[in-house]
Amino acid sequence: MRYIDEYWDKSTVTELIKAIHRESKNPVRLMEVCGGHTMAIRKSGIPALLPPTIQLLSGPGCPVCVTGKAFIDKAIKLSENDDIIITTYGDLLRVPGSNSTLEKERAKNADVRMIYSPLDALEIAKQNPLKKVVFLGIGFETTSPASAVTILQAKNEKIDNLYLLSAHKIMPPAMAALIDEGVKINGYICPGHVSTITGSGIYNEIVEKFGLGCVITGFEPVDLLQGILMLVMQHELGEPRNEVQYKRAVKSEGNQKALKILNEVFELKDDWWRGLGMVSNSGLMLTKEFEEFDAEKYFDLDLPEPEEVKGCICGEILKGKKLPTDCKLFGEICTPDNPVGACMVSAEGSCQAFYKYKL
Ligand code: SF4
Repeated sequence: MRYIDEYWDKSTVTELIKAIHRESKNPVRLMEVCGGHTMAIRKSGIPALLPPTIQLLSGPGCPVCVTGKAFIDKAIKLSENDDIIITTYGDLLRVPGSNSTLEKERAKNADVRMIYSPLDALEIAKQNPLKKVVFLGIGFETTSPASAVTILQAKNEKIDNLYLLSAHKIMPPAMAALIDEGVKINGYICPGHVSTITGSGIYNEIVEKFGLGCVITGFEPVDLLQGILMLVMQHELGEPRNEVQYKRAVKSEGNQKALKILNEVFELKDDWWRGLGMVSNSGLMLTKEFEEFDAEKYFDLDLPEPEEVKGCICGEILKGKKLPTDCKLFGEICTPDNPVGACMVSAEGSCQAFYKYKL
């Protein structure tokens, strides 16, 4: 356990907090764009330890939160077909679609199965050759390689009853879209897990084009405080840079093997993000070579454009413009047991983080 202890060490944490208080003289707004960071920051009580000059904001880093209601509506429509088995990560089960959730449809006998890896969906497809198995692929560069590997394997094994409904997204276009939209921040706490796959270079454009600091940061208290200190120093010196705090996991070249498979199986498409709307070249769809696995192409999924839940300000929260506590439904009507919006459903959502850790 030495490894973990090191990153929770009380004296290191105390020193880092002192250094942040000493160095931070001018107001600075820092945004994390990773659901794992959202939870880790709240769980470890970091906001309460920082000087008033530093404001921490949550951006569009929770995959479930940014995924549109239209995606859930499509999954529910597919689940109504007796020939189809829906396979999904657990977080999506309770996300509200326009009229239902996958969990409610499952209670009505729809075949909706929770899985831990897309390879489980492949196995289910093999075990049920007379059924069509649809995997709901969500998440950023962290989860999309596993989807890509599964599709590649399905192709190699000539499996013809597995389909991917892809809401996979990539992070940098959304980070740029936020700034284009006028969201005022001074730096990004960049996602650690995404960067282990992509490498550190993907944020260079954010630094060069927008003059914002980027620090790829780990998930333990020492990581987070060190990442914040690095961004504060950049801000005070007026020298935004792309730096890596999470050096034990992130390499400049990333995971070349994963990137090769991603590029082989997926290509970019314009995609819809809650809060940001359509962001060009921000989503992943299967390439022509793999289109036989594309649920969007195989099934008729033309549905009316859904409306967002009245009163839910998830979209504004995902842009750092509002806090969960600004929502009139927070904590009274909308709770983790009875979530109204995606940001309360997801274990990585800001609303759930605020509710759970009361900060
Ligand atoms: S508290 Fe609930 S309703 Fe309000 S923004 Fe968050 S998820 Fe939406």
